[in-house]
Amino acid sequence: MKRIAILGSTGSIGTQALEVIASNPRRLKATVLTCNSRVDVLRRQIDRFRPEAVAVGRAADAAELGREYPNINIFYGPEGIREAIDDVDCDVVLNAIVGIAGLGPTFEAVNKGGLTVALANKESLVTAGRIVMKAAEESGVPIIPVDSEHSAIFQCLAGNDENSIRRLILTASGGPFRTFSRERLESVGIDDALIHPNWKMGRKITIDSATMMNKAFEIIEAKWLYGTDAGSIEVVIHPQSIVHSLVEFGDGAIMAQLGHPDMKVPISYAFSGPKRWTTDVRSLDLIALRSLYFEEPSHEARRSLDLAYRVLHESEATGRDSGVIVLNSANEELVRLFLEGKIQFVDILDTLEYLIDGHEPTAVSTISEILQTDQEAREATRERLAN
Ligand code: NDP
Ligand code: MG
Repeated sequence: MKRIAILGSTGSIGTQALEVIASNPRRLKATVLTCNSRVDVLRRQIDRFRPEAVAVGRAADAAELGREYPNINIFYGPEGIREAIDDVDCDVVLNAIVGIAGLGPTFEAVNKGGLTVALANKESLVTAGRIVMKAAEESGVPIIPVDSEHSAIFQCLAGNDENSIRRLILTASGGPFRTFSRERLESVGIDDALIHPNWKMGRKITIDSATMMNKAFEIIEAKWLYGTDAGSIEVVIHPQSIVHSLVEFGDGAIMAQLGHPDMKVPISYAFSGPKRWTTDVRSLDLIALRSLYFEEPSHEARRSLDLAYRVLHESEATGRDSGVIVLNSANEELVRLFLEGKIQFVDILDTLEYLIDGHEPTAVSTISEILQTDQEAREATRERLAN
C-alpha cells in the first residue's frame, strides 16, 4: 500500500489523482489532502477518502474543519503544507499546486527525504530547476514527472541509455489559436482562451497553452529533469495530441509514447512505474486515426518558445538563472491580470518580451532569493503595464 499526499487535491490534476487512487484501493491510500480556498470540494474529498491530515490556506477554514473533523489533523497558512507532510508518513508526495506557490512544498518534500516526489507543478522546476534537482540528488529523492510530455519522455527512457540522448522532442497541440495571426489574436477574449482543443485543465495552464508559454516552460522543465542542453530540446506542433513526446537516441532510434490524451495515464504511471496498472483510458484505434501529423510552430508560437531558449542559453553560458524566474513570475502575474479582464491577450507575450529584453541576469542560489526575484518580476510587470 502506497501512502499518497496530494498537494492541490481540489484542482484538475488533484481530482484526477484521486480518481486513480479510487480505482486502486488496495494499492493506494490518500493520507494528506491540501487546497487553498475551495474548502467545499475538500470536504467532499475528506468524506470519501478519509485522509489523516489536511492543509488549507486560511485559519478560519481550518478552525471550521477542525470542529467538523476532530479525528483529522488540520493545518493552515504558509507552513501548513509542510506541517501536514511532516505529520503523516507518506511514500509519495504528488505536487499538483499551480504556480510558484508549489515551489516551497516541492523543496520541503525533497528535503524531507525517504519519499518520492511526483511532480505536476512545473513551476517548481521552471523557477528552481538547478536547486531542486541538486537537492533531490543529495537526499536521494526521485522526482517523477506528471506533466504528460515529460512523463512520455520518462517512459521512453525506461530501460534505455539516458547518456545517449541526441534530442528530446516535445509535442504541442498548438492550443486554440494555433492558426491565428497576430491581428486575430488582438481580439480574442477570456472565454476563447479558456477552451483547449484536447485537454481539460486548470485556468492558468489553459491560458499558458493558448499563449504557448506552457510549452516554453516545458522546455525549461525538460532541461532540468533530463540534464540536456536547451539546444537538444525541440518542439513540434501535433494538433492531435496522440504522440505525447519523443526521445531520439545516439544510434538514431526514436522512442515515442502514444495514446488518447488523458492525464490519468501519467498520474497512474507516477504511482505504478515501472509497472503498469489498468486504467479506463480507451484503446487507440490506429485505423480510424489513419495518420499522425506534425507541423512547425507558427511565428507567434515561436515568439514564446524563443523566450525559453533565450533565458536557458543565458543560464547555460553564465550560470545565472534569474531570467527563468522573471519569465515564470511575470507570466503568472500577466495571466492573473488577463483572467481578471484587466489586460488583452496579446499584452501577455508583448510584456514578457519587453521584460526579458531589459533583464540583466543574476545568479540565484537559494529559495528565498528566488522568491525575492519573483516579487520584483511581478512589480516590474505591473509597472510596465501602468506606463
Ligand atoms: P488547478 O488550478 O486546477 O488546481 C490548482 C490546485 O492548487 C488547487 O487544489 C488549488 O486549491 C491549489 N492552490 C492554488 N493556489 C495555491 C496556493 N497559493 N497555495 C496552496 N495551494 C494552492 O491547476 P491544475 O491542476 O491544472 O495544475 C496544477 C499543476 O499541474 C500546474 O503546475 C500545472 O502546470 C500542472 N499541470 C497540469 C495539467 C493538467 O492537465 N491540469 C497537465 C500538466 C501539468 P483551490 O482549489 O483551493 O484553489
Ligand atoms: Mg504538458
